[in-house]
Amino acid sequence: MRISRLALMAGALATVLFAGTAHAATVSAPAYKPALAKSPIYKTGKLGLETCEEQKLESGSVDEVRGYLDAVLDCLNAAWEPKIKKAGFAFSKPKFQVITKIGAPTGCGGYPAGAQALYCSLNNKITFLVTPGLVEEPGDLLPMVVIAHEYGHHIQQLTGMFKAMGGYSGKSEATFLDAVRRFELQAECLAGVFIGNVWHSLDRRQTEFDYIVKHGGTGLDLSAIGVKVKGWGEQTHGSAANIGRWLKRGFDTESAGGCNTWKAPKSQVS
Ligand SMILES: [Zn+2]
Repeated sequence: MRISRLALMAGALATVLFAGTAHAATVSAPAYKPALAKSPIYKTGKLGLETCEEQKLESGSVDEVRGYLDAVLDCLNAAWEPKIKKAGFAFSKPKFQVITKIGAPTGCGGYPAGAQALYCSLNNKITFLVTPGLVEEPGDLLPMVVIAHEYGHHIQQLTGMFKAMGGYSGKSEATFLDAVRRFELQAECLAGVFIGNVWHSLDRRQTEFDYIVKHGGTGLDLSAIGVKVKGWGEQTHGSAANIGRWLKRGFDTESAGGCNTWKAPKSQVS
């Protein structure tokens, strides 16, 4: 089977919170802030949506992709709104735009090369890049995983996790990268929660999901964080095996409670 190009460059995250300078130091495993490690979102139980009508993605044209992702976003909003509220937070939908060129404005600066999508915490906006070849096979599952990952960042925004992350940007490089990986792997897990919950309403085979898990989910992206911390890929998003692990854990649990990466052993967030 082919390895989708998307798998190699999805799911970027951009925010000025990560602008702090990193300094080398030895650090033991940190105890993360309650907003991260003890969020009430973990106690909200399984998603209750179960049904999402997925449109067929065939040509990869801008209009088709926008329509497809709009519909998936409707499902994501419907799935997560009750859980965000149940956890005691205000809910709002993320803004969303589709672009076709690197450098387009995102609210967090120009869109960086190498990313498939991006969430900007300054304006709560998801930006998705559509380029020729986005859809390599009709019905590709990966765009759904990518948008669900970016939505994971929106959940982190609504629940105050984004803000809590800001406290780690001025820490040692090792501490900061540990936090960034937990943050990214959590977004991947939250993507899995949604997809697992609506899976049986999608007209898909289990092998399609297993394939993405095996190849590291939305993958090793060149994210906007990476620009600031010098180092891409595994350092900021975790190994392919661990990305797949958290995507699957979310899928299997269908609950944000399965996605507390902040308490996971280091080996699962490396
Ligand atoms: Zn991300």
